[in-house]
Amino acid sequence: MDCNYLTMKIGIQKRIALIAHDGKKKEMLEWCKENKDILAKHNLCGTGTTARLITEMTGLSVKGYNSGPLGGDQQIGAKIVEGRIDIIIFFSDPLTAQPHDPDVKALLRIAQVYDIPMASNRSTADFLIRSAYMNEEYEHVIENFHQKASERKIDL
Ligand code: PGA
Repeated sequence: MDCNYLTMKIGIQKRIALIAHDGKKKEMLEWCKENKDILAKHNLCGTGTTARLITEMTGLSVKGYNSGPLGGDQQIGAKIVEGRIDIIIFFSDPLTAQPHDPDVKALLRIAQVYDIPMASNRSTADFLIRSAYMNEEYEHVIENFHQKASERKIDL
């Protein structure tokens, strides 16, 4: 097996990160209310304001990190690198400039690197949350984040 890659298992209970830009928070709250019964079966976290509003409006328990513009997206990105996030629901606002756009791009990139299922709009989130895999374990192949930088094989 190529030591640059690892087979990782996403368990039945998923660790889901929820993020919504200000222009999409209403939509995120509606979506969480619609899907409350499903979401309640999983471990939820999110950027600060999104997490707080979801908890206040739905009663779901959502661990909050910093607010997005203050580093929350980066904290969630770091959790992905540590193998502690399984799914991202990120309702980004394509019509409004964000001060933390570089952080948003970094989060999307690192989610791709680690093959994280990620929904950036409501319809994709609907398909994702109703996937049969939500009730099953799922194996995927990702970059070997346990491998030390000093051991990485580079063709020079
Ligand atoms: P917020 O951050 O949940 O703290 O508003 C979201 C974001 O803008 O990335």
